[in-house]
Amino acid sequence: MNFDSRKKFKEERTLILIKPDGVQRSLIGEIIGRFERSGLKLIGLKMLVPSKDLIEKHYLVNPEWRRITGEKTIESYKKKGKQPPFEDPFKVTEIILNNLKKYITSGPAVVMVWQGMHAVGIVRKLVGGTEPLTSDVGTIRGDFTIDSYEVSDIDGRAVRNLVHASGNIEEAEKEIVLWFQDGELLNYRLIPESILYDVNLDGILE
Ligand code: GDP
Ligand code: MG
Repeated sequence: MNFDSRKKFKEERTLILIKPDGVQRSLIGEIIGRFERSGLKLIGLKMLVPSKDLIEKHYLVNPEWRRITGEKTIESYKKKGKQPPFEDPFKVTEIILNNLKKYITSGPAVVMVWQGMHAVGIVRKLVGGTEPLTSDVGTIRGDFTIDSYEVSDIDGRAVRNLVHASGNIEEAEKEIVLWFQDGELLNYRLIPESILYDVNLDGILE
């Protein structure tokens, strides 16, 4: 692998949001700790009450999100033998988006950027699947909360799954510029990187 592609991998970035339920459940430290011990590097962090406008822009950074999420939701209703609220995926995601706006603007949230090799994929693995009922044991959504689509649908609210994490590199880059200004992200060296990324591990013995 040449120098440029190695550098590209090491500089992959992802955006993570600890949603208001994560803050209220006193899980900020636990959640940050899980990313911290992975070896990824925290390069930006702040706490804020997000606006509805920001949340709308955040979910719409991927122009396909409304269609894909709508189709996925309709399919999962049908798989369970249930009637979806609408056959039109855009109508389904209109409801989901409104619920998400209410949920994520309800109180303080923590937003972060983590950087390092395969940052997007590593973080998605640590976060776990979207619906806490089926998220894997050992993941943030699997270990620390108990919600389901079924109950959140009955309540007419978004599923409370503690965190958001970017779905892919392109989504991550678009989300990062939405939440952070230039200069709020830090460029620095983290000592463990000299082991994580060292090719020959030849700097250990004296
Ligand atoms: P994520 O990347 O794991 O957060 O999942 P998505 O990007 O697919 O979905 C974003 C958000 O939309 C989720 O956190 C849920 O709030 C909501 N959502 C996604 N799929 C469904 C679904 O099948 N049913 C319901 N009720 N909400 C959903
Ligand atoms: Mg997503």
